[in-house]
Amino acid sequence: MTALHRTGIAMVICAPSGTGKTTLSRRLLLEFPNLVLSVSCTTRPPRQGEIDGRDYEFLSREDFLTRRDGGFFAEWAQVHGNYYGTPLVAAWKLLAAGRDVLFDIDVQGASQIRRSLPAARLVFLLPPSRAELERRLRGRDTESEESLAVRMKAAALESAQAHWFEFWIVNEDLEKAWEELRAVYMASTLSPALRPNFLACLLSGWDQCCNPQPVPSAD
Ligand code: ADP
Ligand code: 5GP
Repeated sequence: MTALHRTGIAMVICAPSGTGKTTLSRRLLLEFPNLVLSVSCTTRPPRQGEIDGRDYEFLSREDFLTRRDGGFFAEWAQVHGNYYGTPLVAAWKLLAAGRDVLFDIDVQGASQIRRSLPAARLVFLLPPSRAELERRLRGRDTESEESLAVRMKAAALESAQAHWFEFWIVNEDLEKAWEELRAVYMASTLSPALRPNFLACLLSGWDQCCNPQPVPSAD
């Protein structure tokens, strides 16, 4: 590893179901090949078009609980009546290899990631209004009336947690929200904390910027 390499960014994106998180996340992942999705495990049944191993790893409740009890997850939560969890080793390996990892998780999971990875960037995507959120959920045509009611109720509780996030993006106009999310990600890649050795290496010799030594801490 040279001093020009940087460590990976953990980027957490939360939103009430139906806000547009999947739409925006997919676009971000397509545009930035160094960014990869942390593929969660879930006990929710697959939706039409979802692929096991790409969108989620779909597990039985029993398998999920066995993995949970074995310490398999970096965080886990019960959301809308199903279990969801982030596989720990896969995410940590990616970050250590310098890949940026997108965590599409709920607020309970975000709070756990915030504690275990204080450098994680926390983005909350908000719907412009309750009515628009319901319209989008209905328009997606993936939820039963019962599931829709559960998600609408959860949306208020989740949005009430938005205050401790670092960035808010209101997804009213999709293109504007996309530009904002892109800007947050790109700005995050410029943090000096991601290149702890670069400055010392640069200053210690203009023509040999390799085999960096750790920078002594300021205190
Ligand atoms: P989430 O992943 O947050 O549950 P989705 O990305 O599945 O949400 O989006 C829910 C629905 O809303 C989809 O049909 C999507 O095409 C639509 N949608 C997303 N963003 C917007 C927007 N800014 N304006 C109108 N519709 C949108
Ligand atoms: P959906 O069923 O619509 O795919 O996801 C429902 C909610 O579960 C979304 O808020 C999504 O971000 C969240 N979720 C997905 N994977 C995980 C995970 O691994 N951990 C947690 N805590 N939440 C997750």
